[in-house]
Amino acid sequence: MHFRQDPEDERFREEVRAFLRARLPADVAERNRRGFHPTKEDELWWTRVLYERGWSAPHWPVEYGGTGWSPLRRFIFEEECFLAGAPPTCAAGFSLLGPVLYTYGNEDQKQRFLEPTRRGDIFWGQLFSEPNAGSDLASLKTIAVLDGDHYIVNGQKTWTTEGHYADWLFCLVRTDTESKPQRGISFLIIDAKAPGVTVRPIVSLDESHSLNETFLDNVRVPAANRIGEENKGWSYAKLLLEHERAFSAEVPRNKRLMAQLKQIAKTQRSGAGRLIDDPVFSARIAEAEIELRALEWLTLRALADMDHGADPTKPVGSVLKVRGSELIQKIGALIVEALGDHGQAFYPEHGFESLPGPAEAPGQVADFLYRRAVTIYGGTNEIQRNLIARGLLGL
Ligand SMILES: Cc1cc2nc3c(=O)[nH]c(=O)nc-3n(C[C@H](O)[C@H](O)[C@H](O)COP(=O)(O)OP(=O)(O)OC[C@H]3O[C@@H](n4cnc5c(N)ncnc54)[C@H](O)[C@@H]3O)c2cc1C
Repeated sequence: MHFRQDPEDERFREEVRAFLRARLPADVAERNRRGFHPTKEDELWWTRVLYERGWSAPHWPVEYGGTGWSPLRRFIFEEECFLAGAPPTCAAGFSLLGPVLYTYGNEDQKQRFLEPTRRGDIFWGQLFSEPNAGSDLASLKTIAVLDGDHYIVNGQKTWTTEGHYADWLFCLVRTDTESKPQRGISFLIIDAKAPGVTVRPIVSLDESHSLNETFLDNVRVPAANRIGEENKGWSYAKLLLEHERAFSAEVPRNKRLMAQLKQIAKTQRSGAGRLIDDPVFSARIAEAEIELRALEWLTLRALADMDHGADPTKPVGSVLKVRGSELIQKIGALIVEALGDHGQAFYPEHGFESLPGPAEAPGQVADFLYRRAVTIYGGTNEIQRNLIARGLLGL
């Protein structure tokens, strides 16, 4: 297979690189390359830059402003943006809600939300998980009772990524307590500024605030904000959850970490020599790099299969998610070990120039601590292994 040799794809890669060189400021790129959580301003500003070029929602259908790129082109685009340090765009809006909205939303909902999302005018938060409903999401308890042409919503959601940035929230609620759990769930869109919505910070291991718990106390939500039919929300959410884990091998993140690891190991000492020349440590780097190469080829093969109409029910995305997330943690652990005391450059607030140690040190340990979560979010690795066992191994 010669994915990269296609001159058209290489020409496309150059086009993306030229765009990034022209439009991405160095200070923004620097923050993202160090793994700092992006600001809302950076994410929306970058969405607008991409929108001008017609690139803010590459994977949406062309009729809703997508690009029509092949899966491989989308991969190239995402890889180049990530490696250059471009801010992410709102994942909850583009990757999760967007496909549900253009597949199941009515014309009014599409008009109200798709274009403003694509333009970078709206930031979204995902209200699915609850304190007692994560992997077993169908057991969720947040309740919505119809009162005239509004639902009254009560309950608690948790782990709302960037919920404090959100202008709008999409939420799974229980609208029928009698039927089987999956049958009584509806999918609502909620204004984050509505009375009764309270978003409270959860500070994570990296001592930063990107996560939240969200309380809904007698929140009045127009019934017109329900996506699709009442009690059918579970089937709409399933489409979203497939998008969430599809192709989340995070090859670009793994590549960036690998490059940083090698750079750090060149500057750090081991005995009288450089750490990178230490036979034991370099063998561990090589082992991780072999896994990275294998992951990249597996991803490219899955993308090529998608292009050729692969069976979408096979949980290939689960395999990629398990391997990619475990590799992030493996390379991250090598980085922390290589840094030693220099890992104390946690999240420096006043620039990086005067700090001792490798230039790549600041932010690494914080990012490593935050990435303990990669094997949990988007569906835990244990759940992915269950899916692989059933869907690929026939167990
Ligand atoms: C950083 C981060 C960001 C997140 N962002 C969001 C967000 O924006 N919106 C949102 O709604 N949610 C979000 N989540 C929540 C995430 O989807 C859940 O954490 C995840 O689904 C796991 O649920 P849980 O935490 O309740 O763990 P549990 O489901 O309680 O699982 C606990 C442990 O038991 C294991 N386990 C559970 N069931 C099984 C089983 N059947 N077989 C084998 N093992 C099992 C799990 O793998 C895990 O190890 C986020 C989570 C994190 C960590």
